Amino acid sequence: MDSRFDGIKRFDKKVWLASPTMHGDEKKWVNDAIDKNWVTTLGENINEVERIVQDKIQRKYAVGLSSGTAALHLAIRLAGEKLYGPRPCNVGTLTGQKVFCSDMTFDATVNPIAYEGGEAVFIDSEYDSWNMSPEALEKAFEIFPDVKLIVVAYLYGTPGKIDEIRKIADDHGALIIEDAAESFGATYKGAQTGKFGDYSIISFNGNKIITGSSGGMLLTDSEYDCHKVRKLSTQARENAPWYQHEELGYNYRMSNIIAGVVRGQLPYLDEHIALKKKIYERYREGFKDLPVSMNPIPDNTEPNYWLSCLIIDKDAMCPQVRSEREALYITESGKSCPTEILDSMMAFNAEGRPIWKPLHMQPMYRNNSFVSTEGLLRGRSNAYIDEGTASDISMDIFERGLCLPSDITMTEEEQDVIIDIIHRCFL
Ligand SMILES: *Cc1c(COP(=O)(O)O)cnc(C)c1O
Repeated sequence: MDSRFDGIKRFDKKVWLASPTMHGDEKKWVNDAIDKNWVTTLGENINEVERIVQDKIQRKYAVGLSSGTAALHLAIRLAGEKLYGPRPCNVGTLTGQKVFCSDMTFDATVNPIAYEGGEAVFIDSEYDSWNMSPEALEKAFEIFPDVKLIVVAYLYGTPGKIDEIRKIADDHGALIIEDAAESFGATYKGAQTGKFGDYSIISFNGNKIITGSSGGMLLTDSEYDCHKVRKLSTQARENAPWYQHEELGYNYRMSNIIAGVVRGQLPYLDEHIALKKKIYERYREGFKDLPVSMNPIPDNTEPNYWLSCLIIDKDAMCPQVRSEREALYITESGKSCPTEILDSMMAFNAEGRPIWKPLHMQPMYRNNSFVSTEGLLRGRSNAYIDEGTASDISMDIFERGLCLPSDITMTEEEQDVIIDIIHRCFL
């Protein structure tokens, strides 16, 4: 490290981006399942977490599944069959169909489109919420008017422009799959995320605000869909004396042991959100005098503050170049960049993370379409955007933004050291 960082001591214990926060009740419900020998994909823990989550989000049905990704896959399968009818062997429900989806998100949001043979069309983000831009979505319907399905994710726990997206979807007769994996507990106009999709999902993966180590849920108001998800997630057995199969199923049900961990965690959701919010506000205060902003909080929304992020002002960016696998930067006085900040934090044993690399920039999806507010930008394979190319907002946020250590167990003193490190990056 250079002399700018003199006097800072390396953290003995790693400061995490977001680690699981256990409270003790988790063990009680896991032990309860073992004591009662409900060590399978049935049991009281599953029933209870489904009931608690459906009440919390105000949906008629919640189905516990093995992961958020499994929930997204089943949502895609159901939506595909509803829109386009069943296919032979129920394979490739979306074959030949385009689906509009968030561009700056985890690839789990969109991979299930490919599992079902569909083609993701990526919709640019907006600065207001860092989520799907309604204007770009409108543009996408001008270009591809036949599309009938939208997958929308809420980044880092902040809801997007839900009403605007719902109106556009309704105007075009499209269904919405809502990926609220990161935003459990966040609200939009007073209602919980997970409430707004024709199919919605949440995740209990290890670093989410509530965890079961793994696990997820699909939320719906349709009894038919609920039964269908229960059936498909347990290998699609028919009601017969033997294993009778009339359609393709999966092994996607939640385990009663995992559900025990989730059950122990759920009472702490509000506490976790309050702690995460404090972290966000402490960063915001600490960065007041730097040329950076925190991730935005749009009107009408109360995030769950899962991850605190920052974005560096355009004119305070030092030169930074990212290839497919590596990053380089040149230190400049008064300026910094995400790579420098992430490297510096890592040198002191604190974990940050780049913003989700936009999916339209992922080699795997290089041939998929990408629509910005300015129209169709197709097949972009260069990994670096010219500054001033305003049309690719996802890429701009990726270039200038990063996720900060947002772990609930981080102390105020540790957070102050991280704030100090980031100040010194700008020296
Ligand atoms: C974590 C996450 C998922 C996937 O959830 P898993 O439970 O890990 O399968 C999907 N979408 C987003 C946006 C996520 O952050």
